[in-house]
Amino acid sequence: MAISTRFLVAVVGAALVVTLLATLLLREEGAAGGSAKKVWHAKEFTLAMVKPDAVRGGHTGAIIDRTETEGFEIVALKKTRLTLAQAKVFYAEHKDRPFFTALTEFMSSGPVVVMLLSKDDAVASWRALIGATNPTRAAEQTMRRLYGLDGTQNAVHGSDAVASAIVEGSFFFPELLSSLV
Ligand code: UDP
Ligand code: MG
Repeated sequence: MAISTRFLVAVVGAALVVTLLATLLLREEGAAGGSAKKVWHAKEFTLAMVKPDAVRGGHTGAIIDRTETEGFEIVALKKTRLTLAQAKVFYAEHKDRPFFTALTEFMSSGPVVVMLLSKDDAVASWRALIGATNPTRAAEQTMRRLYGLDGTQNAVHGSDAVASAIVEGSFFFPELLSSLV
């Protein structure tokens, strides 16, 4: 079961790479003289999430507003709720950490809002905008400092690498595959 889930995530992730490269990197731009030409944009993407504490606290709108103000393009967005089992898959890398049970119970305690974001240097840029994992150590004006409650309920998630963004993006937006190919 665990192996087949991992296999599925890997396959979907690989397919998502292809579709996102096609949609995010190759775009039409109007050329002088009227005709459009294809140009390559090496824009990165990341998976962002408004966690249950921030949704409950009514901060979704402010977080989305800030997201756009900071120059991220919202490629996909949805409100959903993770089951405990889904939260365990999403945070599988932390399964042996002491905070895993508290984390996964919290993450499945209410709705989340997930966004696939695109920007130059999206992964690092989003991590800078949300701040350190613990809100008390996050810089002033970062999202976690503004909206986080404690070291677990820290308001916002961000992928830690492009490879993670691919796996996390396919976890929440598998439908991108069928709608874009
Ligand atoms: N977390 C926790 N206690 C800790 C460290 C992390 O409850 O000591 C939670 C917190 O919600 C964090 C998530 O687990 O956002 C994932 O941890 P990670 O170290 O990956 O931090 P992040 O990448 O979210 O900054
Ligand atoms: Mg992390």
